[in-house]
Amino acid sequence: MNKNNILKINNLHVNIDQKSIIAGLNLSVNSGEIHAIMGKNGSGKSTLAKVIAGHPNYTVTKGNIILNGEDITTQEPDERSHKGIFLAFQYPVEIPGVTNSDFLRLAYNSKQKYNEKSELDPLSFFELINTKITQIDMKPTFLYRNVNEGFSGGEKKKNEILQMSLFNIKLAILDEIDSGLDIDALKNISNHINNIRNTNNAFLLITHYQRLLDYIIPDYIHVMDHGKIIYTGDNKTANQIEQYGYDFINQ
Ligand code: ADP
Ligand code: MG
Repeated sequence: MNKNNILKINNLHVNIDQKSIIAGLNLSVNSGEIHAIMGKNGSGKSTLAKVIAGHPNYTVTKGNIILNGEDITTQEPDERSHKGIFLAFQYPVEIPGVTNSDFLRLAYNSKQKYNEKSELDPLSFFELINTKITQIDMKPTFLYRNVNEGFSGGEKKKNEILQMSLFNIKLAILDEIDSGLDIDALKNISNHINNIRNTNNAFLLITHYQRLLDYIIPDYIHVMDHGKIIYTGDNKTANQIEQYGYDFINQ
């Protein structure tokens, strides 16, 4: 298989309100690969995810982020998203007053437009979204509710996956996609992710638990601490962490 570099992060330093959160992080992800990122609470995992997606609250003070050979460090989030970066938030936001189906259609069509493809009218979009929502075992009524409003934790996570399944992703960053999911939902979502996976895209999975990685086998597991990657192992690393805690890394 011919692997292309999808994401390269060089010596990244990130501040928020003058406080250093990411300090000297390096990461390289090739097409077809799944990388898991683990690490204690507060080690900077969600910050890393948001910085890759271009969240405006974080300032990159040093280093750069390369997507498919292009430096995207200073690009706007919508441009990064159009280029195939997808972020499923640890805490998905609620958008009162906007139905899920309108939101998804607008997002879908704005991507189609950016990529010079034809947009879908509401009826054609309805057919598409209905197929997707059935595949991830969500009730169609969720399409008519406001985005994430009153959704349970697990339903919000499924909604993130529904979004992802609509877009032509290059790099999906899933921040604790397993939290709040019961075992059936976890299996279902894992299957879905495995189906979306191909040799041209890549996944970054942020998780605390081995159980997600039983269903989606990562090529690498990185451990973050104080804003950098302090250890990189294979898919057995999660087992060791589960057994011995993060301290095994220092032994
Ligand atoms: P993780 O996802 O690994 O648990 P985070 O990336 O959420 O960690 O947070 C890393 C550190 O940055 C934590 O100490 C957190 O309190 C701090 N941090 C993150 N976002 C902000 C913010 N908006 N304001 C102040 N501190 C923040
Ligand atoms: Mg987090």
